[in-house]
Amino acid sequence: MNSSRRGLFGIGAALAFAGSARAAEAPPGELVFALPTITVPVAGSDQLFPVRRIYCIGRNYPEHAVESGSDPKNEPPFFFQKPTDAVQYVAPGTTADHPYPSLTENYQHEIELIAFLKSGGRDISIEQALEHVYGYGIGLDMTRRDLQRAMGAQKKPWEIGKSFDHSAPMGPVHPVALTGHLTKGAISLAVNGNVRQKSDLSDMIWNVAEQISQLSKANELQAGDIIYSGTPAGPGPVVKGDLLTGKIEGLPELSVRIS
Ligand code: MN
Repeated sequence: MNSSRRGLFGIGAALAFAGSARAAEAPPGELVFALPTITVPVAGSDQLFPVRRIYCIGRNYPEHAVESGSDPKNEPPFFFQKPTDAVQYVAPGTTADHPYPSLTENYQHEIELIAFLKSGGRDISIEQALEHVYGYGIGLDMTRRDLQRAMGAQKKPWEIGKSFDHSAPMGPVHPVALTGHLTKGAISLAVNGNVRQKSDLSDMIWNVAEQISQLSKANELQAGDIIYSGTPAGPGPVVKGDLLTGKIEGLPELSVRIS
């Protein structure tokens, strides 16, 4: 565990959760033990964004959809989740050690824009969707591709390929008030300095507003929900020692080394 991850947990955060509105809805009684709230720092402040759920959209850039076997124009978007405590916070200007996970021999990077919600609801219209966005960040949807593909081939859930410890490295949240809505701009991922993924946020098949609207039909969205907005073409395998550098125009770089 590196120092940046250790910073996610603390008694203060646990107490904040115990006093939250959601705790008031819980049945009466004392907790057998405390659990930490998973948080991501807000850039340029001493505030923390508490994470409720991590949603991820699949196949949301045309070339990646085609390379994954989809027809992007004729299929509705689909989503999956990662466990909230899969967050690995990476402070700007640092390189975090990211552990190569168990059970895989084809561990892949997916660079993505993340939208962080400050509010939610059901059946949110596309026109009003961005009003729910608190801010944006840069993240990696790390993937045990061999396991994802094997499970898909057997018509079993992808979960073991996508939803595992440390599978959601990310930088801080950048409030919309500072960055505006990130609807266009370069997005890229380099491994050891060689660019593997490169596209533009405007190439998304379903933009962030459409993703929020679609997701809100399936689940009531709430403050603290975050959405990984899909990855451009070119995800590929990494090995121990590789240095991953993610970039999104307007945000600080994200840097992790596979360890
Ligand atoms: Mn992804």
